[in-house]
Amino acid sequence: MTELVIGAGVMGLCVAAELSARGRAVTVIDREEGAGPHHCSWWAGGMLAPDCEGETAEEPVVRLGRAAADWWAAQGAQVTRAGTLVAALPRDRAELARFARRVPGETLDAEAFDALEPALAGRGLRGMFVADEAHLDPRAAITGLRARLAARGVTFERGEGRVGQIAGGRVIDCRGLAARDVLPDLRGVRGEMAVLRAPDIVLTRPVRLLHPRFPLYVVPRGDGIFMLGATQIESAGRGPATLRSVVELLSAAYALHPGFGEAELLEIGADARPAFPDNLPRIRRRGATIHVNGLFRHGFLLAPALARQLAGWLCDGNKPELCDEDHGEW
Ligand SMILES: Cc1cc2nc3c(=O)[nH]c(=O)nc-3n(C[C@H](O)[C@H](O)[C@H](O)COP(=O)(O)OP(=O)(O)OC[C@H]3O[C@@H](n4cnc5c(N)ncnc54)[C@H](O)[C@@H]3O)c2cc1C
Repeated sequence: MTELVIGAGVMGLCVAAELSARGRAVTVIDREEGAGPHHCSWWAGGMLAPDCEGETAEEPVVRLGRAAADWWAAQGAQVTRAGTLVAALPRDRAELARFARRVPGETLDAEAFDALEPALAGRGLRGMFVADEAHLDPRAAITGLRARLAARGVTFERGEGRVGQIAGGRVIDCRGLAARDVLPDLRGVRGEMAVLRAPDIVLTRPVRLLHPRFPLYVVPRGDGIFMLGATQIESAGRGPATLRSVVELLSAAYALHPGFGEAELLEIGADARPAFPDNLPRIRRRGATIHVNGLFRHGFLLAPALARQLAGWLCDGNKPELCDEDHGEW
């Protein structure tokens, strides 16, 4: 039996990777061609930061997210393991203390902070270092994974996938937010981002700037390119970024390093993250369809673990941890 996966975002590709690695024939169908701005996965920052996410996320995000960096590296993605620098402006030290109570890491004195990211030195920033974290370029990662899967024999088709309508087989629905048509508790959480070129600024690792109103992260993508992210707004709107959001993102970047004031603004983007009410992803079976969804702001972080759980269920009968309904037998 060929496994039919609908949706070639990060979730669908990870499912295809795990199932094909176990010898299953897999077809992935997507309404668009290739990786691109049509899907949420295109706009991600690519942070693989389970500990930092644990500031607000549930325990499974931290635990399951720890496997992500190794998984992506094993798929041939270029994973940079340089940790995360969490930073605060002098006036926001209380934010730093609050963060440090929730996230394990090394509190840095001024000298250690400046030594870790010399580009940010001498401006009174303070912070902590969370060592066991990584980042990748999401666009390169999904483009590379897709090519790898095609070379392994996974078939990619362009078309409109329909859930629950395949004769004698099953469908694995990885349509992201589009699956709201059958998953009424799935909601959108809008994220806006920007891409800058600032060749004079050198950062080695993602930097999270704590701020009571406009928290920001900056992810270095090499060659002087930086991704700035991201707003988190309760909305399924996928339209262009608003002026207010962009002003806030860019102002926070400028506060982190005034050199960003001279940066070229290469791109502004927005999409809505698919999320369930508790912001944890789910594997959910309905008839002949299995929905794998709700990655929220943890697409690259959690899709590998979710895909592995799904494959363990379909191939070995192991009950998935993140399955919130009667999983039954296949
Ligand atoms: C600004 C921003 C920053 C983010 N940063 C990070 C980060 O740093 N780290 C992290 O881990 N996550 C991050 N995320 C979250 C991550 O991007 C999402 O969780 C993830 O992309 C969701 O993936 P998905 O495969 O479920 O959905 P999508 O990527 O949206 O893929 C769904 C696919 O289904 C296809 N589709 C829909 N309907 C049909 C149909 N009927 N037939 C065929 N195909 C269909 C679509 O074309 C699409 O390709 C970020 C998100 C945003 C918006």
